[in-house]
Amino acid sequence: MRTLDFILIVFGKFLHFLCSYARLGSGSSFPGRMLLVIDSQIIKRWLSKQDIKVIVVTGTNGKTTTAKLLEHILKNNNISCFRNSSGANLFSGIASCLIKEISVFGLLKEKVAIFEIDENVVDSFIKQAPPSMVIFLNLFRDQLDRYGEIDRIIKRWEKALYLIPFDSVLVGNADDPQIVHLLQKAKNSISYFGLPENQESLKPEKNLADIVYCPSCITRFEYKERFCGHLGLWECPKCRFSRPNVFIKELVDVFQADSLHQYNALAALCASEKFGICSKQARHSLQGFKPAFGRGEIVRYRKKKAHLLLAKNPISFTDSLKTLSSEKAKVVFLILNNHCQDGKDVSWIWDVDFSEVLKMEKIVISGNCAKELRLRLSYSLHQNTAPPIIYTEKRVKKALKFALSISSEEQPLFIIPTYTALLEINKYFKGADHLCT
Ligand SMILES: [Zn+2]
Repeated sequence: MRTLDFILIVFGKFLHFLCSYARLGSGSSFPGRMLLVIDSQIIKRWLSKQDIKVIVVTGTNGKTTTAKLLEHILKNNNISCFRNSSGANLFSGIASCLIKEISVFGLLKEKVAIFEIDENVVDSFIKQAPPSMVIFLNLFRDQLDRYGEIDRIIKRWEKALYLIPFDSVLVGNADDPQIVHLLQKAKNSISYFGLPENQESLKPEKNLADIVYCPSCITRFEYKERFCGHLGLWECPKCRFSRPNVFIKELVDVFQADSLHQYNALAALCASEKFGICSKQARHSLQGFKPAFGRGEIVRYRKKKAHLLLAKNPISFTDSLKTLSSEKAKVVFLILNNHCQDGKDVSWIWDVDFSEVLKMEKIVISGNCAKELRLRLSYSLHQNTAPPIIYTEKRVKKALKFALSISSEEQPLFIIPTYTALLEINKYFKGADHLCT
């Protein structure tokens, strides 16, 4: 081990300690960012010296949950692993995670490292850390001011594909035609996951499709069933490019009814099979799984119950709203922020299907873009004969207190926040009971 690495690891661990001791945040990004300024190759060097399998999880929605599900299954089957659990999925987050996990002698004791990676940096990450497995979850329009259109991400993923070692396994969402089209170009072994047919409970908003035309012959796709945006049982009527077969054919019973979480669970089952864990065994080991904070989680706080459903783009927002009808919700708390991590442009709210919100009795709106959200809702609500009562309060903490006060044990609160709003909620719920779903 080089002396420089020893010094860097000790310094990184010191920064991490400083962050928690001085309450300068969780240390999920800062120590890594500092070390990467000194030496941009630490991730590559530190990982190359280990006898460890690297798994990359990427996609627009569900990275954190999928990584956590996979970690849960592997650990319950005695396969030691770790992941970037803070959800910081850029280089600084990965470096910070390694600082935490690695010993001062530069060794990692686990056999598997699960990294959720931002879809926009996958190619650069794979260049540094060749993975044994890459999980492609889905691709939707998200934070257009930051990522641009999805064609841009697909180009990056194509680049990434050529950097993945040939003996690595690819796990892909069969219901997303763009992912199937991309993975067709790979020479690796591919495992596909997808939702089973006849899912009455998963009603999609048909206008939300980001992909409409076959990328091979530019003909409109035909769908036998659609589950979420452009995800579904698709086929091109002209060139017969169609959804590949999937191995796992049953839904997973650990989550509420929204389809994105089902995809996450199926992806984790599909990946764990490559570790010799059969689907039945993996399903069994999911018992007692607690969702990552805000991702379909239920919190009990001072005799009140709140469901937390993170929403960051039209698809995840619409998908979270589907949960409202399946859970017969009456009180919903919507928070829209447009800080850096959320994306500055909030025009995407006009693509959200708010029809489920029409059935609510009370709606509380908050966030620094509460006004924009209220305006958007007014367009959905104007034809409703018995519109819900709407309260607007820009300050999240004050609005949360109020929303909790009008909820009850029988009518729990459903909170749908954007990312930075979720962090504020997280602070408020510190010390609360986090329940299994
Ligand atoms: Zn076609």
